[in-house]
Amino acid sequence: MGNIETENIRIAPGVKLPPVDPQEDFKGYRGRAKALLEKTGARVWCDVVLDTARGEFVGVLLPRSETADDRHLVIKLTYNGYNIGVAVDTITGITINGYKRGHYQIPEKAFPYDEAKPNVTLLGTGGTIASRLDYRTGAVIPAFSPGELYGAVPELADICNLQTYKLYGEFSENIGPKHWAGTAEAIAKEIEKGVAGVVIGHGTDTMHYTAAALTFMLQDLPVPVVVVGSQRSSDRPSSDAAYNLIRAVQTAAYGDFAEVMICMFGPTSDSYDLLHRGTRVRKMHSSYRSTFRTLSDTPIARVDDEGFHPIKSETQYRHRNPENKVKVRNVFDERVSIVWYYPNMQPDVIDSLVDNGYKGIIIAGTGLGHVNKPLYPALKRAIDAGVHIFMTVQTLWGYVQMFVYDTGRDIMELGVTPLGNMLPEVAYVKLGWVLGHTHEREEVIEMMRTTVNGEWTEREPFDGYLLFQGGLPELEYYYKRYRL
Ligand code: ASP
Repeated sequence: MGNIETENIRIAPGVKLPPVDPQEDFKGYRGRAKALLEKTGARVWCDVVLDTARGEFVGVLLPRSETADDRHLVIKLTYNGYNIGVAVDTITGITINGYKRGHYQIPEKAFPYDEAKPNVTLLGTGGTIASRLDYRTGAVIPAFSPGELYGAVPELADICNLQTYKLYGEFSENIGPKHWAGTAEAIAKEIEKGVAGVVIGHGTDTMHYTAAALTFMLQDLPVPVVVVGSQRSSDRPSSDAAYNLIRAVQTAAYGDFAEVMICMFGPTSDSYDLLHRGTRVRKMHSSYRSTFRTLSDTPIARVDDEGFHPIKSETQYRHRNPENKVKVRNVFDERVSIVWYYPNMQPDVIDSLVDNGYKGIIIAGTGLGHVNKPLYPALKRAIDAGVHIFMTVQTLWGYVQMFVYDTGRDIMELGVTPLGNMLPEVAYVKLGWVLGHTHEREEVIEMMRTTVNGEWTEREPFDGYLLFQGGLPELEYYYKRYRL
């Protein structure tokens, strides 16, 4: 039960703990962990400092999962909001600095209606933006309720009349083609009702796949479709959930855009969000809030509390147009895959895809778009068997250029088609979508090479490499001054 001596158990002066409630105070703790709490007087929701062999940990003691082990205390660290487990055996002292019972339930409130404001619909699919701490397990779980959302972010009512529907409650690794098709249909329905714009709440991990899929599946949009998420859950002080949601709703309500876009933190602080085109954007950092970047292009605009600041020129993005009638083309053939080439990849990787019935392969090749020679016969066999194979670059920025080296020409001769600067994930989504329409080789190639909205651009603008995205103000100043 740890090495803790009685003299190392301290309760700060003035801290009053209510009488023990055995149901709540040791929630989820058992065995050695519970014995430690009982001995020290600490309990769930106490502010504690734990002295351990690995140093001091300061935070709030959280409820524990009922299925978890009995050897750790879990605390939410004060300085960054992360939940960590501290091994009971390593704890040598404990100070109880306070106690405040946690209330993670957000009150449900009916959204007020104001005739003068535009109507926006928010469709929830899950992810951190729809999460809160679960009492039972102490984990962050997806839980989306429209009333909770308004209860948590009342500023939304200053912007618009918001309708909210929960489509799914999934972390985004579980989102796939069926959800894309369902979401596209639900968006179209809202647009047909005449809303000013639609917001999609989504987990950030695969948000860029969904944004690409929606771009292909919903064409001729009259209004903005804004995909939004958050990197940090709303129970953390550094959460970006509310800020992103406000900016996304503002964009749906008033932005002069008619595209599928991702709206997320620009810089590392909450001074503005960027609107990224749905086909040119990617999650680039596993934990930064400014994780989404537009690649090989510039974001469309910045949005802050003063309004919209376009980065692209007027002619480079699609504007609201009430004349447009949205077309839903939500087909997808799931027999597609991405192959991320690595040195010494063996041909059986390609063979096994073909043998398992895959009909489309996107290769993320090295440099300008290469794979090793031993793969050539396998690629040829696959193409002869009717599999559609396309080349993208694993550098992510820049273009496939298969004419520069002989090896590139050889690969093209096998029947592999280069896809310009289409991002590998976007190419994967597009190929599934195209194969939902046709398997005719020439038609597939033609559709893959015909741009729907920016997935393949003619050239990369001079500022298409990480500029104007909140990262390098000095460089931006230079470019503005000398190049623009
Ligand atoms: N794992 C979560 C998801 O993508 C992360 C997030 O929402 O940011 O659903």
